[in-house]
Amino acid sequence: AEWSGDAIRRRFLDFYAARGHKILPSSSLVPDDPTVFLTIAGMLQFKPIFLGKEPRRVPCATTSQKCIRTNDIENVGRTSRHQTFFEMLGNFSFGDYFKKDAIKWAWELTTKEYGLLPERLWISVFEDDDEAFSIWRDVVGVPEERIKRLGEDDNFWTSGATGPCGPCSEMYYDFHPERGSSTADLADDSRFIEFYNLVFMQYNKKDDGSLEPLKQKNIDTGMGLERMARILQNVPNNYETDLIFPIIKKAASMALVSYSTADDTMKTNLKIIGDHMRAVVYLISDGVIPSNIGRGYVVRRLIRRVVRTGRLVGMRGDGPENSESAFLPSLAEAVISLSSEIDPDVGSRRKSIIGELQREELRFVQTLGRGEKLLDELLDEALVSAGDNGDNPCLSGEDVFLLYDTYGFPVEITAEIAGERGVTVDMKGFDIEMENQRKQSQAAHNVVKLSVGNENEIVKSIPDTEFLGYDSLSATAVVKG
Ligand code: ATP
Ligand code: MG
Ligand code: MG
Ligand code: MG
Repeated sequence: AEWSGDAIRRRFLDFYAARGHKILPSSSLVPDDPTVFLTIAGMLQFKPIFLGKEPRRVPCATTSQKCIRTNDIENVGRTSRHQTFFEMLGNFSFGDYFKKDAIKWAWELTTKEYGLLPERLWISVFEDDDEAFSIWRDVVGVPEERIKRLGEDDNFWTSGATGPCGPCSEMYYDFHPERGSSTADLADDSRFIEFYNLVFMQYNKKDDGSLEPLKQKNIDTGMGLERMARILQNVPNNYETDLIFPIIKKAASMALVSYSTADDTMKTNLKIIGDHMRAVVYLISDGVIPSNIGRGYVVRRLIRRVVRTGRLVGMRGDGPENSESAFLPSLAEAVISLSSEIDPDVGSRRKSIIGELQREELRFVQTLGRGEKLLDELLDEALVSAGDNGDNPCLSGEDVFLLYDTYGFPVEITAEIAGERGVTVDMKGFDIEMENQRKQSQAAHNVVKLSVGNENEIVKSIPDTEFLGYDSLSATAVVKG
């Protein structure tokens, strides 16, 4: 029988519970820690214990943690394995067991419980971690050629600029063993997917970058639930698993398209909708309200991206009133109906989540409406001046950018409407404007590193600003590996 996402989650927690771990609930997407922006990994709720600032209550624990990684926003729908919202299954040791048990159990769970074929599994270890290398080879029995030594970028995990960290070891699944071992490259995502990361958490990274050994050696792991579901359900990407696909199907039906026959662009757009809807529902449920600052800005940006993407694929409200009613509420219902095992609180907050989404959508649609009016005027001007000069009518890059940046007006829609009136758009000019803005916001980001550990600053320093375009806030968490 096929593994449902819920069954995969349950098996993970039960497996570790049977090995002395206490099953604990997911913590909020908004961490209890004012220095942390959003929850990017399962370890965050245990950070004070790892650092020795709080006593451990149990020797080891296991969770399924809701996570948000906005640094992956551009990957959504484009890679097969990244969402902004995902669940991270984890087992944690607070000075209890260490490398050997962590590795043995990860292998046993993966091969015996989930039944993945051992010859499909590849391993990475930190380049000088001979101990982990030999546990995989000599204790577990993985052939040497399937254990790769990788550098700091991949195999030294830090949750942010400072804080608990350590070398890690990752498990990869091979979708194409027929391609052979000699040229295998774990970074080739047409062949491999990383699904489980075991972090040997034994240092505290200090402000000056130095590594101070922690009093205890800890284990912190993360397995992407949607990635394991993708492997076990044998679908081409995380989005087509039972954890996300029902939302995508709902979106497709509201747009009167069929996912299975859609082209790649349409599929990507539907995946963006499926992912971002999950993110915004869980963020709002955890108390993050759309706004122009800090976490609220993340939600606003995600909502606007869903709305513009939804309009692009032809979605309109499916409420009885009229075709201009909001469409987020129906999509949110699809998210909420999948939520009971992920977060039982979401269902009870249904009404306020939906109300918030509806308000925000209608507000944004009004902004878009103003953009439409402006676009009409700009098109009139372009037609008149082209007529005067005998040129082909064209909308300047500056104008397209103004519509995009100030009015949240999707470029694709600008081009389409312009095309209907026989006007082309200067995409080169638009790209130049975008690039200028990217450079400016990059400069701002270099001042404000949006990572766990110094987020206090960030929450304060994200400017209270008019909406600046969808892509001006791309890195909210810096995660190595
Ligand atoms: P990748 O290299 O694929 O971006 P990662 O190394 O950044 O993943 P980790 O920080 O090691 O990921 O997180 C632990 C696990 O969480 C990963 O092995 C993966 O299964 C899952 N995971 C990480 N990022 C995402 C994401 N954006 N969407 C879905 N699952 C994710
Ligand atoms: Mg990793
Ligand atoms: Mg990685
Ligand atoms: Mg990553």
